[in-house]
Amino acid sequence: MTGVPLALDAAPWPPAPRTPQGMGYRLFSRFRIGTRLAAMMVLAATVSALLAAMGIRGLAVANESLRTVYEERMTPVRSLAQIAHLMLSNQLQLQRALAASAPHANRARPALQPEEARRAAQAIEHNMLTIDQLWAPYAATPKGPKEAALAERFARQRAVYLQEAVKPTMDALRMLDYADTQRLADTAHNLYERASLDIRALTDLQFQLAHATYEAGVRSHAQTRQWALGALLASMALLSFLGAMLIRSIVRPLQQVGRMFRKIAAGQLDTPIAVHGRDEISTLLFELRAMQSRLSTHEKAIHQLAYFDPLTRLPNRRLLRERIQRALDASGQDDQHRALLLLDLDNFKTINDTLGHEVGDQYLVEIARRLGHTVQPPHSVARIGGDEFVVLMDQLSEAEGEALTQAEALAQQLLAAAARPCPLQEQVHHGSASIGICLFRRSNASIHELLKRADTAMYQAKNAGRNGYCLFDPALQARLENEATLEAALRDAIPAGQLALHFQAQVDQAGHVLGAEVLLRWKHPLHGHVPPAQFIPIAETSGLILPIGEWVLQQACAQLSAWAERAPTRHLELAVNVSARQFRCPDFVPQVCQALKQSGAPATRLVLELTESLVLHDVADTVAKMQALRRHGVRFALDDFGTGYSSLAHLKRLPLHQLKIDRSFVEDIVSAPDDAAIVQTIIGMARNLGLSVIAEGVETLAQRHALQHLDCQVFQGFLFGLPLPLQAFESWLAQYPAPLPIFPPATEVTANPREFS
Ligand code: C2E
Ligand code: MG
Ligand code: MG
Repeated sequence: MTGVPLALDAAPWPPAPRTPQGMGYRLFSRFRIGTRLAAMMVLAATVSALLAAMGIRGLAVANESLRTVYEERMTPVRSLAQIAHLMLSNQLQLQRALAASAPHANRARPALQPEEARRAAQAIEHNMLTIDQLWAPYAATPKGPKEAALAERFARQRAVYLQEAVKPTMDALRMLDYADTQRLADTAHNLYERASLDIRALTDLQFQLAHATYEAGVRSHAQTRQWALGALLASMALLSFLGAMLIRSIVRPLQQVGRMFRKIAAGQLDTPIAVHGRDEISTLLFELRAMQSRLSTHEKAIHQLAYFDPLTRLPNRRLLRERIQRALDASGQDDQHRALLLLDLDNFKTINDTLGHEVGDQYLVEIARRLGHTVQPPHSVARIGGDEFVVLMDQLSEAEGEALTQAEALAQQLLAAAARPCPLQEQVHHGSASIGICLFRRSNASIHELLKRADTAMYQAKNAGRNGYCLFDPALQARLENEATLEAALRDAIPAGQLALHFQAQVDQAGHVLGAEVLLRWKHPLHGHVPPAQFIPIAETSGLILPIGEWVLQQACAQLSAWAERAPTRHLELAVNVSARQFRCPDFVPQVCQALKQSGAPATRLVLELTESLVLHDVADTVAKMQALRRHGVRFALDDFGTGYSSLAHLKRLPLHQLKIDRSFVEDIVSAPDDAAIVQTIIGMARNLGLSVIAEGVETLAQRHALQHLDCQVFQGFLFGLPLPLQAFESWLAQYPAPLPIFPPATEVTANPREFS
């Protein structure tokens, strides 16, 4: 988590797009998921409680309507029924009192039975009291206008009933007056009949009111129920909606997170991740974005490291290969030419060695910058290592000549850029470069092959004197390939026993064999006899000359030692060719001494052949080494003399024993007076310096005579003997002296001298 800002509203990376979840998510994502769920539960509980309260209230309303029916309407009905019943009871009391007192014929006025009259009066009085008690509470209750009018009428009927029926009846009873009682009973009956109509009307009204109240209660209950149902449905819809939003607000972002993970896993690190909320998923997205950012940074760093050179920031070999591959693929589709320009800085090693690697790096960076400016798209430049750069030229002309001109134009610009003075460590460096150009179109060649061609051409440019460019030459390539094959084969030559020494006699003016030159031969099972002129340079450039040269020395010393033990050969010398690389090896002197010591060969019989270029390289060191060996008795001949640029001053310093006149002067000595003059000069100079002279490549008697005439003392050539394997050489020696020439005529030999090897 290092380096990642924790604030959720930090600037998004990559730039955030519009949120795909919409406003709902924006709103919800402000709250954590736990809070959202808790709020949803609280809301659901609240809605449930409200709905329950509504239901309870509906029941309460229904209860209330029932209670009203019972308490407000049924009580008056009961009271009115009782009043009617009590009034009827009064009637019955009177009828009973009248019935118990049957009228006597003998009486003028019939009388009531006192006891019955008294009991009836008491009962009627009690009834009337009860009626008052029943009526009073009802009369006091609030009423509607219709009920109030009916109650008023009944109250008047009751008062009439009391005044006109009950009170006179009570008097008649007290008076035991039968006739009045009977008359009043009828009156009471009539009044009762009228009052009972009002009571019934009132009772009916109460029933109506009760029914109306009940109906209102039922309606109210039904309404409450509808409200409750509506509220229930609405709250269910609301809760479902909110629940769906809540689920969506969790599921959608989780799906987004899933998608993001899939994209990141698939390596799509540039997908923008939007983070808007503050909930757990937003935190997850935020961390994912931070992770994506880090992965992207790391990937870019890895890509940079994998495809770009860290020093110059130019594309590296890997990226170049991919680009070449793309160019090769494209070249299969069109007819355009493309080109590889391999640029190698000249003498870059010198900067590194003299000014140090840091300055070398600075120089490379500057050159890379210049090349980068020079090479414009669609072309590209890469550094493939060390001081080597490659320019891939794309979309060149379809016509070969034009394409070549385009490539050469760019090569010239690149050379000019590399040749501009470059300030390095307070001094100005004047560098240069060599370029190899390889043009291709509809090519089947591999990347390796194309680069190799450009490399070959570049080496050609180097060999041509540097600060230039060369086009790829297939013949040169074939030669280099052949050399590479030979080099690989040459590595196994010593252990495989493919190398052998041949010996070519050296004779004096009298025809005595003084010794021989050791000439190396290589016979390969596949390549056959490979001439020294072909494999010695390969051995020198590859360094194989060191073990080979050491082996030749050991073999030659062993042979000297063997010859030293036999009288006929004891006097023979052996001249061994020493290559420059071998001679400059610091171990060279001990190596020769070791070979002499190990073999027991007489050092004085060993002659080492050095070339002019070798001795002129580092004269002081050369002289030191020669003198060191001279002290052991080893002598030196200067091979191929006349072809180099030795000055007399140098020659004087060298502890030489012999000058070996090059074959080229001997060849035309008879026909070319110039060559004869050169040979004469060499011989004169050698005499002045106190050196012996040997002429090599003597093929004819005429050449021999001409040389002898110029006072050349020693000869070597086909006229005397071909280079021969040891046994053949020793056989030749055994039959010597033989009439000359002892071998086929020189012309034949020259045509194919190896046939005799
Ligand atoms: P070099 O040292 O000048 O050897 C003389 C070359 O002249 C030999 O060629 C030899 O065969 C050839 N030669 C001798 N007489 C005649 C002649 O009458 N006519 C003609 N046309 N050629 C004649 P070879 O053996 O092919 O060697 C070529 C070169 O290879 C040698 O030139 C020498 O520089 C090098 N070389 C040969 N063996 C060795 C070796 O063991 N070590 C090193 N460092 N170089 C060697
Ligand atoms: Mg030689
Ligand atoms: Mg020679």
